[in-house]
Amino acid sequence: MPIKRLDKTPMPVRQAGLRAHDFAEVNRGYGAAQAAFEAERCLRCQDAVCEDGCPVRVPIPEFVHRVATGDLRGAADLLRSANPLPAICGRVCPQESQCESRCSMARRFEPVAIGHLERFVADWERSQPPTVAPNLTRSERIAIVGAGPAGLVCAGALARLGYPVTIYEALHAPGGVLRYGIPEFRLPKAILDWEIGLLQALGVEIACNVIIGKTITLDALMNEMGYAAVFIGTGAGLPRFLGIPGEELNGVMSANEFLTRVNLMRGFEFPEADTPVQRARRVAVVGAGNTAMDAVRTALRLGAERALIVYRRSDQEMSARVEEYHHAVEEGVEFHWLTNPLEVVDDGHGWVGGLRCQQMTLGEPDASGRARPLPVAGSEFVLPVESVILAIGTTPNPLLTRTTAGLATNRHGCLLVDERTAETSRSGVFAGGDAVTGAATVILAAGAGKRAAQSIHEALQARR
Ligand code: FAD
Ligand code: SF4
Repeated sequence: MPIKRLDKTPMPVRQAGLRAHDFAEVNRGYGAAQAAFEAERCLRCQDAVCEDGCPVRVPIPEFVHRVATGDLRGAADLLRSANPLPAICGRVCPQESQCESRCSMARRFEPVAIGHLERFVADWERSQPPTVAPNLTRSERIAIVGAGPAGLVCAGALARLGYPVTIYEALHAPGGVLRYGIPEFRLPKAILDWEIGLLQALGVEIACNVIIGKTITLDALMNEMGYAAVFIGTGAGLPRFLGIPGEELNGVMSANEFLTRVNLMRGFEFPEADTPVQRARRVAVVGAGNTAMDAVRTALRLGAERALIVYRRSDQEMSARVEEYHHAVEEGVEFHWLTNPLEVVDDGHGWVGGLRCQQMTLGEPDASGRARPLPVAGSEFVLPVESVILAIGTTPNPLLTRTTAGLATNRHGCLLVDERTAETSRSGVFAGGDAVTGAATVILAAGAGKRAAQSIHEALQARR
């Protein structure tokens, strides 16, 4: 079996969708003059197509105009009224495929950098004294299961409507993927803590280390504990595996496990902080989505000399943000496109000694609409790596649905909800975010939490 030489020849950066400010600004953010200058480029289109690309419909032209005129308080208030997590979304939202992809300016020039303006305004707001105070005037108490973006946003919206809310979170700290998945270098924990602090200032209570379905059942929440309604935002945290020989070897782990160990055990501060995560010299990450890019860049920060992306399709089919891909290229990640893992090779001592792969070629589109990868006969080779991290997708954790009668799910384990009200098959139990859609995005989860809060409010009003 030939051993593939690992040379450093990263693929050229794709040009489509890359703009000058992706390179220049992403790590240091805008200053006030630069933000105003960028905002003045906005045409304030009558038909603001950028808004159609925003899942929570931020009133973009008005927001951008306020930045252009220096009304940062007004811009911040407008932004927050539509998007409850602006400092986070300004950093992690895929604007290039949402609002900015539709911007009229993009027909001839670069689109207005809406995402960078969002981040600038949200960061400015963080430098101001908080203006929120609790106003919990209603008697019906609401329980939220899961403190990811869906649960946090739902809780905030309900607290603003006057409801006392308690979030139950399985882990020892709130934030969901924002805390245990997305690394510090992309989303500083201080920003997440600040957003969560605002919710607590509104009166939202957060009970950590409580697994609903194990520590407390959903029925107990509704019956013995007397909650008037429950929102489930438990995400899609169960990793998929390849099912190939050798996956049980030491040195193979899911990206979820790897990132959780680093994020929650401060592995990102290596070598100042100690952490029980394997720091391999050569690491292969299987997959090419945002999770894969986060895992591979984290492996580099933990000291890997070689960090590889292994993906069975080509760069044209990868789902990672162009910005994330570009950063990975800049940092020296090696990309092995059209490469399908067949077996994790044992080094003879129960540890990973390599990854046996096969070269692929692309055929006709499959059910997902993407070109189907087909094996090239006689093309097998071994990548010499000591660690294999799998980032090939996740599904909802079945713990809650298995321990709760009457919660209907689809064949992927996602909760079924009424599209209009977000109510599940159980009366008074609502759901949203990745637990319903499968792995998606922060803003879609936040939008679902916001809509569900409105539905819960309407349902409780109707009960009166
Ligand atoms: P989650 O964020 O998964 O939160 C669910 C919470 O529920 C967790 O805290 C979990 O511990 C808790 N929970 C689960 N079960 C129970 C239970 N039984 N009892 C109590 N608590 C429970 N999206 C983007 O838009 N941009 C990005 O750049 C991006 N990067 C990503 C990088 C990584 C590594 C990953 C994994 C995802 C990324 N995503 C990104 C996707 C995005 O983070 C998710 O779509 C989003 O976090 C989903 O929010 P959620 O609230 O539905 O679930
Ligand atoms: Fe401004 Fe672009 Fe939206 Fe037009 S489409 S209002 S130019 S951000």
